[in-house]
Formats: sequence, structure tokens, C-alpha cells
Amino acid sequence: MKFAILIFFLIFLNLNAIPTGTIKGEIYYSNSKLPVRYGTIEIKSLKKGSYIDSIGNFEIKNIEAGVYDLKLHVNYFDDSTLNNIRVNSDSVTDLKISFVSNCQYSRSDSICPVCKKIDKVIPIVYGLIVFENDKTDTTDNSGSIIEEEQSFKMGGCNVTGCDPFWYCRRDSISF
Ligand SMILES: [Zn+2]
Repeated sequence: MKFAILIFFLIFLNLNAIPTGTIKGEIYYSNSKLPVRYGTIEIKSLKKGSYIDSIGNFEIKNIEAGVYDLKLHVNYFDDSTLNNIRVNSDSVTDLKISFVSNCQYSRSDSICPVCKKIDKVIPIVYGLIVFENDKTDTTDNSGSIIEEEQSFKMGGCNVTGCDPFWYCRRDSISF
């Protein structure tokens, strides 16, 4: 009789524990390998989601075990869908998502598309730049560096997620 009660108790527990799991991961741009910032990821059928944080990470907890489609929304880009993501109970599904944008720029391609050379190509640097010496009078209105020895071009602080990496001083183009 004790045995029968114990079995009943175990089955009862099993029926009441809803098996849930977690989806977490990181998202980065396929071309630059930089983290995707400021977007959302959502399980379509559950209307449950997470913000993508400033270093490209997200986490969605308490998901019933199953197979889901995820909707990825990244600011400035069209929404995309990740199909058939499996969630197992009491475990974490860890995703590494390479976000392929329709951005034409690539960090790995530093050859100028006009002159087909790299000798006058300098990197574009975004964000605030602090100079050791006061060189602000060597820039023109567009922020371009006039001084020939300058080793980079200032790209400003507005980063869209699809920004040029390189600047050719010969042809004055960003790419
Ligand atoms: Zn060029």
C-alpha cells in the first residue's frame, strides 16, 4: 500500500511540473563581427521576448519545451525570422546568431573601389576622439582630416549599424 501511494505521488508531481527551458544567446553582424545592439527577439507563437542589450546578448526564460520560430528585430533593418529553434525542459538553448544585413560595407575589404589600391586608405573611427595635441583646426567642416599624415578619419557619433569602415584619401570616398 505504501508503494502504491509513493507511485501515485510521483506521477502527481510530474503532471504538475510544467517543463520549461531558456533561450539565450548573442547576436553579431556577419560582416564586422561587432555586436548587434538595440533590437528585440520574440517567440512568435508565445508573444514572449527579450531586448537585445548593448553587447548583443539576450535571454528569454520560462519557455515551455517545444520548437519555436523567433522573430528578430534589429533597429534600422527589416525583421528576420529564425525557424525551428528547439527548447528542452530544464536546459538552456544557447544561440550564436550571425546577423546578415543588407549592408554593403565590409571591414575585411580595405581596397578602394575607385583606385583599386590601399596606399591612401585609412580606417574610419566612430565616437568621441580625444586628441593628445590640439589638432581641431586641421579639420574642415565635414570633419575630414586635411593633414596628410592623419592615420584615420572621424566618422562622428551617429552609428546606424551599417557604416563604412574605410576612407580613401585619394578619391575622398568612404566605403
Ligand atoms: Zn581610392
